[in-house]
Amino acid sequence: MMARAHARTEPWDMIVVGGGATGVGVAIDAASRGYDVLLLERSDFGKGTSSRSTKLVHGGVRYLEQGNISLVMEALKERGTLRSNAPHLVHDLGFVVPNYDWWETPFYGFGLKVYNLLAGKYGFGASRILSRDETVERLPTIQTNGLRGGVIYFDGQFDDARLLINMAQTAVDQGATLLNYAPVLGLLKDADGFVNGVRVSDLESGVEWEARANVVVNATGAFCDALRHAAEPDAVPMIAASQGIHLVFEKSFLPGDSAIMVPHTSDGRVMFAIPWHGHTLVGTTDTPIPEAVIEPRAQEQEIEFVLSTAGEYLARVPTRGDVLSVWTGIRPLVKSGTSGNTAALSRDHTIQIDRSGLLTVTGGKWTTYRHMAQDCVNQAATLGSLPEKACVTRSLNIHGYHQNAGKFEDLAVYGADAALIRELQEARPEWGVPLHAALPYTGAEVIFAVREECARTVEDVLARRLRALFLNSRAAVAMAPRVAELMSLELGAGEAWREEQVAAFTELAGAYMV
Ligand SMILES: Cc1cc2nc3c(=O)[nH]c(=O)nc-3n(C[C@H](O)[C@H](O)[C@H](O)COP(=O)(O)OP(=O)(O)OC[C@H]3O[C@@H](n4cnc5c(N)ncnc54)[C@H](O)[C@@H]3O)c2cc1C
Repeated sequence: MMARAHARTEPWDMIVVGGGATGVGVAIDAASRGYDVLLLERSDFGKGTSSRSTKLVHGGVRYLEQGNISLVMEALKERGTLRSNAPHLVHDLGFVVPNYDWWETPFYGFGLKVYNLLAGKYGFGASRILSRDETVERLPTIQTNGLRGGVIYFDGQFDDARLLINMAQTAVDQGATLLNYAPVLGLLKDADGFVNGVRVSDLESGVEWEARANVVVNATGAFCDALRHAAEPDAVPMIAASQGIHLVFEKSFLPGDSAIMVPHTSDGRVMFAIPWHGHTLVGTTDTPIPEAVIEPRAQEQEIEFVLSTAGEYLARVPTRGDVLSVWTGIRPLVKSGTSGNTAALSRDHTIQIDRSGLLTVTGGKWTTYRHMAQDCVNQAATLGSLPEKACVTRSLNIHGYHQNAGKFEDLAVYGADAALIRELQEARPEWGVPLHAALPYTGAEVIFAVREECARTVEDVLARRLRALFLNSRAAVAMAPRVAELMSLELGAGEAWREEQVAAFTELAGAYMV
């Protein structure tokens, strides 16, 4: 694929820079309309924010409180669309708001009824008020001192990196060309100063090459100002970066199938404790940072804050020693005025066309990626003088689509592809053995990740094809040598490659340990 993209001399209809939810969403939209698309990602697909979210496909209850009805309605509609296009990865989850003050139950009960009404035919389940006993039944480990009852509402949950990989496959199925490990180093311009291409590096071969296009889309998330500066040195920055962390614990901290939603923490944020892939995930924070970095790290006060907030609501107070993994993501928040409070910045998506003709699409959230992509491609087509073609993604199934994937048990996230992994496990029984006692992943999934899911490094496999690094960073480090061995057989790489990969992964994983 890479070689073919290098050799091509005629321009593409569209080049998309950035392989997160936004960029891959744009590539799917454009390719499924029939445009000729190249997407370039400097690292792995999902290396940025798109593998580091809270894993919710949601309308955003808190935006309702802020009175942003249209944002909530759009997200609720997209939530329903995503569940019907990728049912193997998106499922309903009950969220319980535990109430400790007499006035809270009716207050949240009413707000969540409005949330249901807004969802209309895209609803995920009716919210209702829970008695104290019902609350404890749903949340056996909830702090019961002073507990009066609760309210339950329903939203969606997903696996962000897995969805992204399946989206990349969907884009390819629709005819797009997607390359990872292909950073865009600079922009090319025509005689009028209009952006008409990119300079790219192939990190594996070290070769640099150029690609031309009618329109270039900047979908680099929290990094988008860097490319805007490459186009126009005096471009005014759009992004106010803010990071959020999550801590992961054993499932025993939150047994059962319901999540906890705390609408107001001591710093005025929403906090979730969520069951995810057999573990408990707690987050998040909202900490302004000077600029986006590729591998952000949790700050000490963020770790302490999440631990102490979780300790207020859980009967068994979690400690640092209980943390199996910590990860950090950066929100691409678009500046609106001069507010220093990032929680108050716009959560809507933004499309900005700079004087140079570079089109930047950013902001928004995972849940609304499809709608963002639709808006973006509409504008990009006009900007690039491409023939008008209608968007078809509202009913386009995502790769792996399967309505009853639960029956594949540990392989459910693969949807229809689970059968292919089963075949590998049956053909080579040693590939069916779990790679670590604490996690369900097997060698067959590593082989599949290399053959079918563009995994190039041990990190690609352990962080984003399997979610080992995000669930249990120490177990992931223990798995690394075997993963490197399996990958090297597929890639034809030698011992030096294996050693270098294991060392690099072990160093990276340090940032996911507390
Ligand atoms: C802590 C946290 C929790 C969140 N939780 C949720 C949630 O539960 N639900 C929800 O709907 N949303 C959530 N979000 C928001 C959502 O995750 C983001 O809006 C979304 O992932 C942004 O995707 P993106 O593609 O714009 O950015 P990214 O995923 O960051 O992708 C940008 C990509 O561009 C690449 N890139 C940068 N420069 C170059 C270059 N020069 N050449 C090539 N590639 C380049 C990067 O490597 C990166 O992969 C959360 C965000 C955070 C931070």
